[in-house]
Amino acid sequence: MMMWYQKKGDQVLKELGVSDEGLTAAKASEVLKEKGENVLLEGRKKSAVQVFFEQFKDLLVVILIAAAIISMFSGNVESTIVIVAVIILNAILGTVQHEKAQKSLESLKSLSSPSAKVIRDGQKIEIDSREVVPGDLLLLEAGDMVVADGRILHNYSLQVNESSLTGESTNVEKSEEILKGELPLGDRVNMVYSGSLVTYGRAEAVVTETGMQTEMGKIASLMNATQEKKTPLQVSLDNFSSKLAIVIMIICGVVFALSLYRRMPILDSLMFAVALAVAAIPEALSSIVTIVQAMGTQKMARENAVIKELKAVESLGCVSVICSDKTGTLTQNKMTVQKIFIDGQILNPEQLDLHNQLHRYILYNAILTNDSAIVDGKGIGDPTEFALLEMARKTSVDDEIMREMMKRMEEIPFDSERKLMSTKYALHGVPTVLTKGAVDVLLPRTTHIRTTDGIFEMTDADRSRITEQNMEFSSQGLRVLAFGYKEVEEDHVLSLESENGYTFLGLIAMVDPPRTESIRAVADAKRAGIRTVMITGDHKVTAAAIARQIGIFEQGDLAVTGTELDAMTEEELDRDIQKISVYARVSPENKIRIVDAWQRRGNIVSMTGDGVNDAPALKKADIGVAMGITGTEVSKDAASMVLTDDNFATIIKAVANGRNVYRNIKNAIKFLLSGNMAGILSVLYTSIMGLPVPFAPVHLLFINLLTDSMPAIAIGMEPAEKNLLSQKPRDPKTGILTKDFMLSLLVQGGLIAVCTMAAFTVGLRGGDAAVASTMAFCTLTLARLFHGFNCRSDQSIFKIGFRRNWYSLGAFAAGVALLSLVMFVPFLKRIFSVATLTGHQIGIVYLLAVVPTVLIQLVKIIKGAVNL
Ligand code: ATP
Repeated sequence: MMMWYQKKGDQVLKELGVSDEGLTAAKASEVLKEKGENVLLEGRKKSAVQVFFEQFKDLLVVILIAAAIISMFSGNVESTIVIVAVIILNAILGTVQHEKAQKSLESLKSLSSPSAKVIRDGQKIEIDSREVVPGDLLLLEAGDMVVADGRILHNYSLQVNESSLTGESTNVEKSEEILKGELPLGDRVNMVYSGSLVTYGRAEAVVTETGMQTEMGKIASLMNATQEKKTPLQVSLDNFSSKLAIVIMIICGVVFALSLYRRMPILDSLMFAVALAVAAIPEALSSIVTIVQAMGTQKMARENAVIKELKAVESLGCVSVICSDKTGTLTQNKMTVQKIFIDGQILNPEQLDLHNQLHRYILYNAILTNDSAIVDGKGIGDPTEFALLEMARKTSVDDEIMREMMKRMEEIPFDSERKLMSTKYALHGVPTVLTKGAVDVLLPRTTHIRTTDGIFEMTDADRSRITEQNMEFSSQGLRVLAFGYKEVEEDHVLSLESENGYTFLGLIAMVDPPRTESIRAVADAKRAGIRTVMITGDHKVTAAAIARQIGIFEQGDLAVTGTELDAMTEEELDRDIQKISVYARVSPENKIRIVDAWQRRGNIVSMTGDGVNDAPALKKADIGVAMGITGTEVSKDAASMVLTDDNFATIIKAVANGRNVYRNIKNAIKFLLSGNMAGILSVLYTSIMGLPVPFAPVHLLFINLLTDSMPAIAIGMEPAEKNLLSQKPRDPKTGILTKDFMLSLLVQGGLIAVCTMAAFTVGLRGGDAAVASTMAFCTLTLARLFHGFNCRSDQSIFKIGFRRNWYSLGAFAAGVALLSLVMFVPFLKRIFSVATLTGHQIGIVYLLAVVPTVLIQLVKIIKGAVNL
C-alpha cells in the first residue's frame, strides 16, 4: 500500500474526498462520529487498586496496624475493629482523593487544550483539537502545535520541531513535494505529525490521521504516564511525617519502658504506647493539604488562571517580580490606526484618498502584507494587521476582492525577532515586494522615498524627519509601523538577505490602550511588595509611554532596549536591574538574561510569554505564564500557568489566591498538629504521673479523622483577608514548620492538654476511670473543635467574624453533633468505650473545653491592639 507521503497532494485530497474548500460541516461531523474524537488515550495509568495498596506503605499506617494488633491482644476487640475499619476507610478515601485530584488535573489540562485552525465550507475557522477529523484542511503557522498527522499541500518555509516523536531536537524544514521509497518518519518531510511544534513559517496540510491512529497515538500506549510530581510542600510534609514516625516510635519506646518500670502489666503498658502513637499521627493531614490545594486551583481556574503544575500554587505566594509582556497583557490588544504619516503630512485614516497613487500604495501594502481576516464582523489573526484592515475599510477599497484577485507569489512571515513581514505580488503586472515592520528596522533598509511628486533618493534630512516623527508618535504611546516596497525582476527570490533597497512609503501609528484593570493591578502588586517590569518587542519610547500611564515606569526609572542590554556586563546589569522597569525591542535571549539577573538577587520571578521563542524563558522563570487566547501552543506547553483571559490583572489575582491557599494550608496544619500535640502531652503527662491511660485508640481516631477534619477543611476555605496584598511576599526558603510555628503548636497544644487533664483529674476524683477517660475524651474533642476558630486567622474572631466563613460554624456544629451521638447513643457508646456523664460533668467538660480558645483569643486581641 502506498503511504501518504508517496502520493501527490491532489491525490491525497481526492482519496480523502476533500475539495479546496475543505470538508463541509455536515461531512466533518459524520467523520467525527465514525472515527471518534482526536484524542490520545492516556498511557499506562496507575489502577485504583494499585493506588489503594500504596496507601498502606506509609510508616504511620504501619504503626496503626501494630496498634490494632496490640488492642486485639489486650482484649479490646472493639478498638481493633475500629482501627482496622479506619485504616481501610482511610485507604479508600486516599484512593478516591487521588482519583479526584487526577480528574481535576485532567480537566484543568483540557481547559488549556490546543485549538486548531481549519478550513471548512471554504471558511477559516478555529476549532477544538478534539474535533479535527481526517480530511480537514489544517492551517499551520509558527507557534502552533500540530494536532493531527497530515500531508502538506502548500508549504511556506515551514519548520517543525518533532522531538517529541523522533527525539531529534533540531528543526525540520518541510516541503510539499512528493517523496519516493520507504522513508523513516524523520525523513518524510512532506508530512506533519501530531505532537510536533511549528517553529517557523506556515503551511496548509490535509489531515490524514487523527487520535490513536496518528504516529503519536501508536507510541502513546507504550509510554508510561508522566510521573506525578510532588510539590515542595508535599515533599516537606512527607519528610516531616517520616521524621515524626521515628520520633513517635522513640517516645513510645520510652513510655512503654517507663510503664514496665512502674510494674504495669505488659498489655497495659503497650496500650499507653499505642494511645501515644495514635494521638501523634496526623492521619488526615496529607488528604487535607491535597483537598485545600485542589480547591485553590479550582478557584483560580474560575478566575481565569489555569494552573498546570501544582507547585505553582505554592510559588505564586512567593513571587516578588513579574515580568510582563505589554501588548495584550497590560494593554487591550485592540489596535486602532490613529495617524498616518505620508508625503511629509500627518493624516487621519479617513483622509486616505484612493485617487492619490501614493495613498493607494500604502493601502495595498497594508491589505496585502496582512494575514488577518474579518469573519462575521470579528477579527481573526494579529490585531496589528487587523487594525490595518479596519483602516482600509474606512476607504472604499474592497480588501476581499483585492486579495482574491491578487495571488501572493512569495512571503517571509513576520517574526518578532526580525520585526518585518514581506510579501511578493504582481502589482500592475510588475513583481513587487511589499514590506512592513518596525521603523528602526525598516528605515535603514530603505534607499528611496516616494512622494506625490515621484520617487527620490532618501536624504539624511528625510531620514531624520521620519525618525523624528516616529519618536513623536511613540512618545504618545502609539505603536508605529513603517511601510516600503520595491519592484523586482521576475526571477527574484524573496530571502532574508534581500530584504533591503526599499522605497519608503510612510508610517502608520496605532493606539493600543492600556487595560483599565492594569493600573489597579500594578498598584496592588506594588503594595504587595511585587515589582512589575515591562518586557516588550515594541519601541522603547512607546513602551515607556505606556508603562508611565500604567504606573510601571516611575521617576528615576530606566528603559533599555535589547541592544543596550546586550552591551551591559553582568555587573552593570546587577547594579541597574532595580531601576530598569522597561525593556524594549527584546529578543528571547534577553528575556532569559533578565529572569536570571532577578533570580540571582534571590527573587521568585514570574514571566509572561506568548511566542514560540518564549518557551525557554517561561521554563527558566519560577512561574512561566502563557496567554490562553493569543499565546502559541508552544508557550502554553512550557508554562506552569495559563491565563484564559490574557490579562495582567489575573496574575495579581492568582498571586493573591496563591498566598491565601498557602496561608490556609499553614493554618490547617497548625490546627491539626496543635490538636495532636494536646493528645501527646496528655498521654505523656498521665504516663509520667503514673495515672491510667486517658484515651482508648478509638477516641483519638475519632478526633483525628472525624471531628478534626471538618474544621481543617473549613480553615482551608477561609477567604482572603483584605491585608493579604499589603504584606511582603513570603520567603521561599522558610517552610511552614519554622521554630515559631512549632512553638505555637506547643503552647496551644499545651493549653488544650492542661484543660483536658483537668477534666481527667476531676473524673478520677469521682473514682471512676471510665468516667475520667470519657471526660478527657469529650474535653479534648470539644476543645479542638473550638480551636478551629482560633486557627482561621492571626486576627481575633471578633475582628473577622463568622459570616465570612460559614463552613467553620458548620464544621463546629457537625463536630458537636457527632460527639453527642457518641456520648448518648448506647450502641456507639459501647463501640467508643464511653461512660455516661452527669449534667454537672458535661458542664465541666464544656467549660474546660472553651478555656483555651478564650485565652488564645485574648492574646490575639491584645496583640492586635498593640500593633495598632
Ligand atoms: P509584546 O507582546 O512582547 O509586548 P509586541 O507585541 O509589541 O510586544 P512584537 O509583536 O514582537 O512585539 O512587535 C515588535 C515590533 O514589530 C512592533 O513594534 C512593530 O513595529 C512590528 N510589528 C508588529 N507586528 C507586526 C506585523 N504583523 N508586521 C510587521 N511588523 C510588525
